[in-house]
Amino acid sequence: MIRTVAVIGGGAAGMMAAVQAARAGARVTIYERNDRIGKKILSTGNGKCNFSNEKMDISCYHGSGRDLIPVLYETFGVAETKRFFEDLGMRIKEVNGYLYPASGQASTVLDLFRYELERLSVQIHTGQQVTAIRPSNNGIMVKTMQHEKYYGAAILTCGGQAAPGTGSDGAGFKLAGQLGHRILPVVPALTALRCEGTYYKQVAGVRCDAKITLYAAGDKICEERGELQLTDYGISGIPVFQISRHAAYALREQKHTTVKISFLPDDDEDACEKFWQERWERKAEQTMEVFLTGVVNKKINQLLLSLAGIRGSEKAGEVTGKMRQKLQSLYRSWEVTVTATNPFTQAQVSAGGVDCAQVAYNLASRIVPGVYFAGEILDVDGICGGYNLQWAFSSGTIAGRAAACEM
Ligand SMILES: Cc1cc2nc3c(=O)[nH]c(=O)nc-3n(C[C@H](O)[C@H](O)[C@H](O)COP(=O)(O)OP(=O)(O)OC[C@H]3O[C@@H](n4cnc5c(N)ncnc54)[C@H](O)[C@@H]3O)c2cc1C
Repeated sequence: MIRTVAVIGGGAAGMMAAVQAARAGARVTIYERNDRIGKKILSTGNGKCNFSNEKMDISCYHGSGRDLIPVLYETFGVAETKRFFEDLGMRIKEVNGYLYPASGQASTVLDLFRYELERLSVQIHTGQQVTAIRPSNNGIMVKTMQHEKYYGAAILTCGGQAAPGTGSDGAGFKLAGQLGHRILPVVPALTALRCEGTYYKQVAGVRCDAKITLYAAGDKICEERGELQLTDYGISGIPVFQISRHAAYALREQKHTTVKISFLPDDDEDACEKFWQERWERKAEQTMEVFLTGVVNKKINQLLLSLAGIRGSEKAGEVTGKMRQKLQSLYRSWEVTVTATNPFTQAQVSAGGVDCAQVAYNLASRIVPGVYFAGEILDVDGICGGYNLQWAFSSGTIAGRAAACEM
């Protein structure tokens, strides 16, 4: 008898799960609440879809499913993902390890999936939100506003809560919760941080190389280096995105959350001291504005001067030792207080979700036989650089194949 499989959600993980289940011989139906599948993919990688990364390591992932990564990726990792897309006809472009379709268009990924789903005769029900899933004697019941149908297996790929405009608004967590699955706290990740203070407007738009270190209740949590972007409400850019999930959890636990920013990221304490000492001696007769020109972006110089309580018209030689120390310390470690992350609407992924302790290595539910999970609905979140789509494709493959074959 042909196995029937329902895939709930037509995102990256859902489309991959459907393709793999159909290739393994199952009769597959996708349920997608939007009027079309794959909406989120179109906005990934600024429309270019950074779908994976050659530099793959477990340290690029967080969450209770982190330990699944080496096992799953051994079966379907970066090499297999590249081969999968190449076989469908994609030429791949690599930039510093980041992988993209060479067309420069995220729509290529979606089109290739659409053609393959059609070739495999996968049924696609768009505009159908699944409102309940229940195990029964006839199989797994999938209920929508339109009908109730029974399947041999159901794969939940409803995504998380990030970018809800694309369809993933946390509805999948409710479905999983109804089945008895534990949902670990869900927070925005890969997003900007809102900070205390009214002075951000004067530096908004500045981008600079920086090292940023996150602290929660005084404890160092993590450190990142890269291009910092200052916005009118706080800090953004890749290094901020990378630490944002940790900041979100710290804030959720109501811990005092701060970020120390070093604008001289290459220099250790001694090198900084030497740099400033030489400068104070060499430029003592110049006004502070001239003294600082060339250290970093002019707007940052001006902001740090005012935070140190120094007027630009003062001569460097006249500035008191205490003020100098303050200024030097601001360049090396400007501490800002984080008040919030940006909301889910402005986050690329959500951290948290279905607890992977209740999911087997083939992504089958340990609670309800016949139910599987893949993608962002699971408590796995990757860093920037193609790691989240790779997770969607790897987990979608494993769940799709297992759902098609397990009886
Ligand atoms: C702006 C942006 C840029 C990004 N860029 C990148 C990038 O370059 N590289 C990268 O690796 N990652 C990127 N990501 C993250 C990546 O897109 C996601 O992690 C990935 O798409 C998640 O796939 P998914 O299939 O698990 O979930 P989703 O893509 O969220 O798909 C879930 C689908 O399920 C549907 N659905 C939900 N509930 C129901 C229901 N009850 N019934 C029926 N359908 C339902 C939704 O409508 C949605 O279509 C980006 C994300 C955003 C928002």
